[in-house]
Amino acid sequence: MVSAQNVGGSSPRVVLVVTDGMRRDFISTENTPVIANLKSTGTWFASHRSVFPSCTRVVSSSVATGCLPAKHGLAGNSVCLIEDGKLTLHDAGKPQFVDDKRRLTGRVLNIPTMAERLASMNGAIIFNNVSPGAAYVHDPDGHGHVYHRAASYGPGRVPINGPNALDIVQGIEGDTAATERFVDEVVLQRRPTLAVLWLSEPDTTQHITPLGSPRHLEMLRQTDRNVARVLAAVSQCREEGEDILVMVASDHGHETTVDYVDIAAEMVDAGLKRSLDSDDVVVAPNGTAALIYVDPGQVSDIEAIRNFLESQPWCGQIFDPQNFRDVGIPAGGNLAFGVAMAWDDGTNEYGVPGRSYAVLSANGQKKPAGCGQHGGLGRYEQSPYLIAEGRGFKAGETVTSETSAVEIAPTVLHFLGRAVADLDGRALQELN
Ligand SMILES: [Zn+2]
Repeated sequence: MVSAQNVGGSSPRVVLVVTDGMRRDFISTENTPVIANLKSTGTWFASHRSVFPSCTRVVSSSVATGCLPAKHGLAGNSVCLIEDGKLTLHDAGKPQFVDDKRRLTGRVLNIPTMAERLASMNGAIIFNNVSPGAAYVHDPDGHGHVYHRAASYGPGRVPINGPNALDIVQGIEGDTAATERFVDEVVLQRRPTLAVLWLSEPDTTQHITPLGSPRHLEMLRQTDRNVARVLAAVSQCREEGEDILVMVASDHGHETTVDYVDIAAEMVDAGLKRSLDSDDVVVAPNGTAALIYVDPGQVSDIEAIRNFLESQPWCGQIFDPQNFRDVGIPAGGNLAFGVAMAWDDGTNEYGVPGRSYAVLSANGQKKPAGCGQHGGLGRYEQSPYLIAEGRGFKAGETVTSETSAVEIAPTVLHFLGRAVADLDGRALQELN
């Protein structure tokens, strides 16, 4: 079924593992001993950041392309697309989102992904257990292989069915099943140039459990064991002489949610939006951030919306098209405001710092307040971690200058001798 290639170290390759939502300050010898130990054999990026909004589908696009949303073009976990001249809210996590985005805007992402760039050199295989949309933005145009529980695709987006599909559940049980298959089939047998394992934990548990609670800490330990499985397989391949770069990272951290805000309902009450379902003003919820779209044909007083937002206790920072570029938000599509919800360094019941307001999701579904959330610019949701181990990276080194998710692709491409100009990120080998 599969053939081993490049055995004997003939071509360098990269293995990237992402533990979704893991905060940098939760990396410890107690809870994540394997990841903590990797700091001594690899380089630790002590000021690593997410992007804005710090949502998985957005960060996934930034990891895949090496660019901020302003360049790759996916603004949020939920976004408005213009359909028949009207603002229409889309959930970028849905399996059909990539097709909708392509149909309505011409492209899913504006920048080639690593899967596309590496297609001619033994390609990319992505195993992903978060939302379907987050999985498919790694390779929306079908240059490599993407495995997800909703559906898996090979080159040309040909569906992978039957026993070769990835029949797992979201959460630790599915993560572990995905890891075991990834290790045996991808790292040890198929040996693509880029192998990505994106685990759903600890993010899945953090959304429904207080940060620092026993259940949360147990999830960190189990996720660490999945990282250990991958590292053991990499060690085995390196012993055979292979030149492998390992990057282990998270995409964002979490903050404790203090309350959920129904921004759309508050705007209706304030007379700034016709009704909850109206398309004059549409709020796209993004966890602890929101994207607010305004139809200029229906709304003349955008300043009234800004004044309303500025006066709300839940509003942290407001961005508009004049300063979108500063924070990496894509302009156009009638996007009028990016809002990062207010946050502080207060602690939760387990003494874990970082609290933020969150935006009620479009379906009105509240995740429990007191649990984790992300999307905004809070200190801890903007503190994911990154470790790189392999050629080009010094063992035990700490890099303190700021890095972010956009640095992963340039680093991978640099390692493979395929450096690309004009990406937002830099190759991290140059900082080391
Ligand atoms: Zn995530």
